[in-house]
Amino acid sequence: MENGKPITTMCAVMAMDYTNFCYRVCSICERTLPVNPSSLCKFCNFNAFNPGSSSSKRVFRLLMSIATDKKVQTVICFDRVARVLFGCSADEFFDFAKLHPFAAETVSEILEGEMLRITISKPKNGNAQHSRVVQIVPLSSCFQPAIIRLRELYG
Ligand SMILES: [Zn+2]
Repeated sequence: MENGKPITTMCAVMAMDYTNFCYRVCSICERTLPVNPSSLCKFCNFNAFNPGSSSSKRVFRLLMSIATDKKVQTVICFDRVARVLFGCSADEFFDFAKLHPFAAETVSEILEGEMLRITISKPKNGNAQHSRVVQIVPLSSCFQPAIIRLRELYG
């Protein structure tokens, strides 16, 4: 594999980390916010002329273990890519999961074994641990995003 050049490969989903699949960002500048649920963006909310103008939203950051024909590896999917699998925004999914506590675990089960064509980009700096998925194309003709399957399951 050439360094830094994205590769496209077929893979099967082995598992996803359903305990930690999203994080909060500022809805204006999309900077990552602290874990504390009441904290707001100190950059956007600092604007005294418009107090309380910033709010937070959730975005996906999903660790997934995949098997290619060469190896099993853990990759990271950020919001745009994870939405292909979930079929909704991280906020929508989070709200759904509040009503259905096992929803995230069920997504992991739903996606397990799913065949994907993915494009992976190697981390450019040494600090990033995992290769990043930049594109996902589900290969099964009957693929449905997880949220649709969940709504069927939970009624
Ligand atoms: Zn902000």
